[in-house]
Amino acid sequence: QYVLAIETSCDETAVAIVKNERELVTNVVASQIESHKRFGGVVPEIASRHHIEQITLTLEEALTQAEMTIDDIETIAVTEGPGLVGALLVGVNAAKALAFAKQKPLVGVHHIAGHIYANRLEKEFEFPLLSLVVSGGHTELILMDEHGSFEVIGETRDDAAGEAYDKVARTLKLPYPGGPHIDKLAQEGEVSIDFPRAWLEDGSYDFSFSGLKSAVINKLHNAKQKNEEIPPQDVAASFQESVVDVLSTKTYKAAKEYGVKQVIVAGGVAANKGLRAALKDKFKEEECELLIPPLHLCTDNAAMIAAAGAVAYQQGHRSGYDLNANPGLDLEMYGKRGS
Ligand code: ATP
Ligand code: MG
Ligand code: FE
Repeated sequence: QYVLAIETSCDETAVAIVKNERELVTNVVASQIESHKRFGGVVPEIASRHHIEQITLTLEEALTQAEMTIDDIETIAVTEGPGLVGALLVGVNAAKALAFAKQKPLVGVHHIAGHIYANRLEKEFEFPLLSLVVSGGHTELILMDEHGSFEVIGETRDDAAGEAYDKVARTLKLPYPGGPHIDKLAQEGEVSIDFPRAWLEDGSYDFSFSGLKSAVINKLHNAKQKNEEIPPQDVAASFQESVVDVLSTKTYKAAKEYGVKQVIVAGGVAANKGLRAALKDKFKEEECELLIPPLHLCTDNAAMIAAAGAVAYQQGHRSGYDLNANPGLDLEMYGKRGS
């Protein structure tokens, strides 16, 4: 049983095929990063145009790699949101056209459900399960009691973790996207600056990164005015320490409170070396299992959409030919659809 999935929510045109819910057959990702770099971020109009150019080629490439034709596919899954509306529309329309022309069932998928389900390509889920989603647009702690059900127990009140990384990187004049560059620089530096950590109210699983981001920017600005040199690797290491401390501590507390069997890390920032190490350390003596996806499944891809789509399909979810891009699609509502 094969699911073909399309993901075009941001700046990656991706098509993947997954067999029997958990076996990755092929995972093709056409990245546009080079086109957006000089603007220091994703330009929505450019993203949409690239998706239009790439979508057919990417589809063909996935089928060629898998040595399959579209007739071998049982279901078409596609990211319906959240993301950039013009970018999402390219994938949604391609999926609808395919499903209609070939009379295949169509399943719309939530992008963040996809980031979580990327982990199921590596390891079967055991519930209850806690997921730390850290990406370019999201920082959330999500509790799952069963497949397809999502309860957000904490979220960011301002910037997402990835966003904070990218903004601090820009201040340090590192190329876009800055996360991986800060990560690399941080390995070479000392945690010599005491940046703030936003713990928020007692017992809250929410996050806030804008104060930290401003503290880094102010520190660099003040140093410049006084003609002081702060080694950028120390700024990177200290900033990363602060982010990772808050993320890993809150995740650990929530895992304990909810007595989960598994803790999953998902989204682009799950690629972060500091975060991976801190979580491994925190959970090393715990009974609950820590799942961290391999790097190629952390950032945007369609394999994760196929994995989430396959489960939704098994649960009986179907989208109609009126499926639309939904840039603000809510995860909890998405989980409750049809019930
Ligand atoms: P969302 O999934 O919330 O819609 P997105 O799809 O743009 O947003 P992802 O592709 O999941 O986000 O992740 C991209 C983000 O991950 C970027 O902000 C990038 O800087 C960050 N990132 C990637 N690798 C690392 C790393 N090693 N350390 C820190 N951040 C990283
Ligand atoms: Mg991306
Ligand atoms: Fe993403």
